[in-house]
Amino acid sequence: MPLITTETGKKMHVLEDGRKLITVIPGDGVGPECVEATLKVLEAAKAPLAYEVREAGASVFKKGIASGVPQETVESIGKTRVALKGPLETPVGYGEKSANVTLRKLFETYANVRPVREFPNVPTPYAGRGIDLVVVRENVEDLYAGIEHMQTPGVAQTLKLISWKGSEKIARFAFELVRAEGRKRVHCATKSNIMKLSEGTLKRAFEKVAQDYPGIEAHHIIVDNAAHQLVKRPEQFEVIVTTNMNGDILSDLTSGLIGGLGFAPSANIGDEVAIFEAVHGSAPKYAGQNVINPTAVLLSAVMMLRYLEEFATADLIENALLYTLEEGRVLTGDVVGYDRGAKTTEYTEAIIQNLGKIPKRARVREHKPFRLPKVDGAIAAVVPKSRRVVGVDVFVETDLLPEPLGKALEALAEGTPFRLKMVSNRGTQVYPPTGGLTGLVDHYRCRFLYRGEGEAGDEEILDLVRRVASRFRWMHLEKLQEFDGEPGFTKAQGED
Ligand code: NAP
Repeated sequence: MPLITTETGKKMHVLEDGRKLITVIPGDGVGPECVEATLKVLEAAKAPLAYEVREAGASVFKKGIASGVPQETVESIGKTRVALKGPLETPVGYGEKSANVTLRKLFETYANVRPVREFPNVPTPYAGRGIDLVVVRENVEDLYAGIEHMQTPGVAQTLKLISWKGSEKIARFAFELVRAEGRKRVHCATKSNIMKLSEGTLKRAFEKVAQDYPGIEAHHIIVDNAAHQLVKRPEQFEVIVTTNMNGDILSDLTSGLIGGLGFAPSANIGDEVAIFEAVHGSAPKYAGQNVINPTAVLLSAVMMLRYLEEFATADLIENALLYTLEEGRVLTGDVVGYDRGAKTTEYTEAIIQNLGKIPKRARVREHKPFRLPKVDGAIAAVVPKSRRVVGVDVFVETDLLPEPLGKALEALAEGTPFRLKMVSNRGTQVYPPTGGLTGLVDHYRCRFLYRGEGEAGDEEILDLVRRVASRFRWMHLEKLQEFDGEPGFTKAQGED
């Protein structure tokens, strides 16, 4: 069978002659030039690879395929399990779905890995500080699940879903990356001081997983401080693991630390499939001019070779790249200015000529095979010993002030097993009054606690909602639950 699972858990397609089959997507704009340069270097380095070239992006949207990813491409990746792709445009007016996001989601590539390092002769304000770090971004959960609702005509909601399973997986992924790359330290960056339950889930999973890796220093850092520290002293970081939106922002920041998008590779890795691509987009203004820096795609291919456990070829190419940059004779326009920069093809040729050479100062990190983390695959990953429904939050739309609203709700709850605990507006208690001077919108959360024996039953909750609905327009309900005696909900600002 050509599809194998390595001892480290990775799936790959190995041909009879030992070459590994990968899907190549040239992409849009500067994509084909960057991918062509990369394939030339891979060929010159005798990388033991075979390719299936497939389409995605603008050309596909133009054919009227709204996802931007045709079935042949999906099937090819399903077969090869590994893809190298150029950037894909998201043209406006052809369905407006991102083909990149489609690919990441279709194949559940839950880890987005973005390494950045200082390169010789690439000027940055941080030159000489030895930046060499990786951002590991959770790639499928969080606000990017895209579950959004207008709850009132003027108030929008996005659900931020963070699972224990997803958090444990990405945390283990980060520790495994530290191990594979011979690093010492990992930081987990979250906003768990504010979002104690959602962001806090990653923090708690990270702290639990850290116990399995006693040789690795594990630190938690609040994400805003991580941004500050990354600008002030980026060299203190080795691996940063973080939730989807934090990672989106932090990893663009880190690309900016090392000389720009021409040098920022990435990988999207899941249990079944891995997709390697530059961080940058299709840079349309440079398309077809033979001036673009192909390094980011080339380094993505180097990451792919290490994923495929082709370490010698990966080191050969990375050394040739570092040697070329260290030599500083042939550099692209983004580094030395487009009036003086080398053509993409000249730069590629220089790297090829330098295959086999070792740079004087810049070092290639030693890599061990990366082990894909295994976590319990059960759908219900956390099973509490006990659970209890202790109340309900009913969200209503009204332009009443808090005092009359609170009094009306108290009257409606009379004779039910619930009492109104408080009413909040955008998370701050406004009834009973706290003495604060909170601004108001037409979106209130009304918290009712259960006073009866045992737990609140669905019929009791629905009866309460019917009573509330007799006077107010409700749009959302949230049961208040306790798991193993711990509240599964947070308090409002100002709530006792
Ligand atoms: P972009 O294509 O990344 O280009 C922004 C700027 O970054 C360029 O103008 C250029 O800066 C610099 N740059 C990008 N790649 C470079 C390289 N290889 N070498 C040197 N400099 C490079 O971002 P965009 O213009 O916002 O997006 C264009 C299209 O790409 C959009 O359709 C977007 O949706 C898509 N996109 C795709 C991906 C992906 O496929 N993963 C990612 C991002 C964006 P200067 O102008 O300063 O020279």
